Amino acid sequence: MKKKQFKAESKKLLDMMINSIYTHKEIFLRELISNASDAIDKLYFRSLTDESVGKNKEDFFIKVDIDKENRNLIITDNGIGMTSEELENNLGTIAKSGSLDFKKDNAESDKKDDVEIIGQFGVGFYSAFMVSDLVTVESKAFGSDQAYRWTSTGADGYTIEPCDKEDVGTVITLHIKEDTENEKYDEFLETYKISGLIKKYSDYIRYPIKMDFESSRPVEGKEGEYESFTETRTVNSMIPLWRKNKSEISEEEYERFYSEKFYDFEKPARIIHTKTEGQATFDALMFIPKKPAYDYYSKEFEKGLALYSNGVLIMDKCPDLLPDYFSFVRGLVDSADLSLNISREVLQHDHQLKLIARTIEKKIKNELTKMLNNEREAYEEFYKSFGVQLKFGIYNEFGAHKDSLKDLVMFYSSTEKKLVTLSEYVSRMKDGQDKIYYACGDSAEKIDMLPQTDALKEKGYEVLYCTDNVDEFALKMLDEYDGKKFANVCAEEIDLSTEDEKKQLEEQNESGKDMLEEMKNILSGAVQSVKFTNRLKNYPACLSSEGNISVEMEKILNSMPTDNKVKADIVLELNASHPVAEKLKTLYTEDKDSFNKFTKLLYDQARLIGGMTIENPSEFINMISELMVK
Ligand code: ADP
Repeated sequence: MKKKQFKAESKKLLDMMINSIYTHKEIFLRELISNASDAIDKLYFRSLTDESVGKNKEDFFIKVDIDKENRNLIITDNGIGMTSEELENNLGTIAKSGSLDFKKDNAESDKKDDVEIIGQFGVGFYSAFMVSDLVTVESKAFGSDQAYRWTSTGADGYTIEPCDKEDVGTVITLHIKEDTENEKYDEFLETYKISGLIKKYSDYIRYPIKMDFESSRPVEGKEGEYESFTETRTVNSMIPLWRKNKSEISEEEYERFYSEKFYDFEKPARIIHTKTEGQATFDALMFIPKKPAYDYYSKEFEKGLALYSNGVLIMDKCPDLLPDYFSFVRGLVDSADLSLNISREVLQHDHQLKLIARTIEKKIKNELTKMLNNEREAYEEFYKSFGVQLKFGIYNEFGAHKDSLKDLVMFYSSTEKKLVTLSEYVSRMKDGQDKIYYACGDSAEKIDMLPQTDALKEKGYEVLYCTDNVDEFALKMLDEYDGKKFANVCAEEIDLSTEDEKKQLEEQNESGKDMLEEMKNILSGAVQSVKFTNRLKNYPACLSSEGNISVEMEKILNSMPTDNKVKADIVLELNASHPVAEKLKTLYTEDKDSFNKFTKLLYDQARLIGGMTIENPSEFINMISELMVK
């Protein structure tokens, strides 16, 4: 029979897979057993509605046999099986030239190619080649009369031929490699090793995984004599991890489960394992990751928890179980209250599911609160990864969830120089301080330089720094915390001066009225008004805003791809006690040309210090150069 060849690319790919993807060779067994379990799941599902399957749940099993003499490890299942087409498509995919050729023509780099292809195909089955130099798969699909045998020695190709096999299901025979100097394979022919691996990786598989064990017993009627016999035992406990009691599960088991199920090689930040009884009865096993998944902040990301009914998977990712602001949580829910055959549409309106979702949300919130109170450092780490999500949660749905989230959010504090909660801020507020001050900018360093924060900082007030786009929107949605309103130091008029100082300022604005009006005209439309204020210490000018839209919000809203552009009402504030103010007054009466230029320069300066770009850089540079040679 003609051997079908793997293409050159596939060869490289297989090599790569075999040698580098899995660092632990032993996981091949887990992969093959999972496949067997999936195949049984399929037939079991079928048996619920199709009597011709002729099997009850108890009839399904996986068997692992060792044939030491011939160096074979054999994995048998009585699941759904594969037709010859399925053998070709499922196990031969890697050799399918079509997709590889297509990729090759279209991609620049070979490397990138390989990675994409690996991502496309299940590589689970191929892990068999890490320990085996000859793999034989004999399979008979449910509903077909003919069985087929797939054979391959690895990278150089495979054959498919008809074979005899009575029962529906699959038998995979691995010829185990010989030991080399560096690699040991013999142990994969030892019962204790293989049964140990099953316990370690596949304990919760829902079908019995059976193995033969050699044992001895006394011979009846012959004192002192023993005979050996073979006993078939079920190796796995068949209880899913989440169904076990917390006390029976080690930290390591939880972590292994997490990394295997969610492909995260970092340990989870938190593990939430709960059994809930009452209105809704369910087990939940959830994990708060340390870092966002690689696609977490992309459109492709799908939130959700896996949903099981009595240990049987209904849905891989049920989005209705998690609110958006907790979408980073990974895990599963198992409830006997849900029907196995429930459809996605019905599920959405399921009363029971809603109850479960509500309880789950509370559990996650409690866990985060506990973490915040007892493990501050860990919480801050968590917050750096997922804080943005919580702040979106406050803002979204018109603030429907703001009360439940307001104690979980943190902002960088000007005085503490670290992340603080709103309640911590309020507890430190000064006598007579009635507002929670915040300032917006790209980074803490840039906000530190804002002229508007100078006066506040000098008087010792704490300012919260908003560096994420969503921050100010979230604070606006909150409106107040503990009865204290939020105040944007760049938007609101924050006057900390004495009555005398206020009066003086009023006079200054009154007497400078014409000049200020003239400045506004020079800036033709860029600002709503120009006025003297008291809050700037070291800088001659800054921009602030009046009304609901701050300068920062304008920036963010207008960066979004919509036609509805917004405009903040901008005020150019002049430092009443800065020498530049005096200079302006003089120029206003004596040198209109320079007054004109200085006004534009001040406006540009104020834009720069506020973290904005200037509208006409070449004009700005010309004016500066002119001043330099004066
Ligand atoms: P994955 O399991 O990630 O899809 P694998 O390479 O492990 O990738 O398997 C490829 C496919 O081969 C499976 O999706 C399944 O359709 C089929 N398969 C593998 N093992 C078996 C089995 N024991 N019985 C039936 N089908 C199987």
